[in-house]
Amino acid sequence: MRNPYAATNKSYRQQTKALAHQLRTQPAQPPTDSLPTTPYWVGTVNFNLRKPNYVIIHHTAQTSTEQTLKTFTLVKTQVSAHYVIGRDGQVFHMLNDYLRAWHGGVARWGGITDINSVSIGIELDNDGTEPFQEAQLTSLLKVLASLKHTYNIPAANFIGHGDIAPVRKSDPSALFPWPRLAARGYGLWYDAAVLTDTTAAPFAADSCGQPLPGLTPREALRIIGYDTQDLEAAIRAFKRHFAPVDTGPALSEQDRRILYNIYRKAL
Ligand SMILES: [Zn+2]
Repeated sequence: MRNPYAATNKSYRQQTKALAHQLRTQPAQPPTDSLPTTPYWVGTVNFNLRKPNYVIIHHTAQTSTEQTLKTFTLVKTQVSAHYVIGRDGQVFHMLNDYLRAWHGGVARWGGITDINSVSIGIELDNDGTEPFQEAQLTSLLKVLASLKHTYNIPAANFIGHGDIAPVRKSDPSALFPWPRLAARGYGLWYDAAVLTDTTAAPFAADSCGQPLPGLTPREALRIIGYDTQDLEAAIRAFKRHFAPVDTGPALSEQDRRILYNIYRKAL
């Protein structure tokens, strides 16, 4: 079968060749004019490639895999991901895992501001309003297993685009089955007991209704990783991921217990 992407694949090969050339180049000497020169260059013998340590899950907000493949092979879009997974479970691996895809955009998770440099991006073909397909999830779980194993990625580092860019993004949608992933070690999840344990009173107020000194929901969200500059957006993102009952910016008593539980796991 003729590959409709033969031309862009040629561009891929040229770009990887240019990057390989860059890797082979000895470091400039000296790195800046303000440093004294050394008598000769010394290359260490102990090194390898940097590894991805996060996985960011997206939905494409498009209507077909073909449309997404097209988007990621047009220079003008300036966006890409390592993997695109179709509704039928077909997996397109579009970029070597060691290379930097352009999927995160302006984002933040904990102290990390350059998400693309440390992560793998996975796009699920889904328009954002429909349920995720079983074949697609089956393939996703296989890809995640391979990534976790190959790069030793911690469970907490499997997150969504909406988690790292709460003001701008809402993918994957509230229909994404995070608990199913977490059960396999991809992403954190809360203990079911907190849903019914009404004696737990995280972020407690005293008898006069004044907040006690100590942990606030904002701090808990920050410790989990959320950018809380826009607190309402961060709460919405947290709820979409962990408690998608409503899309509002308020934390119910149950949401607070879930938040506290996840915070403890993130410590
Ligand atoms: Zn996204």
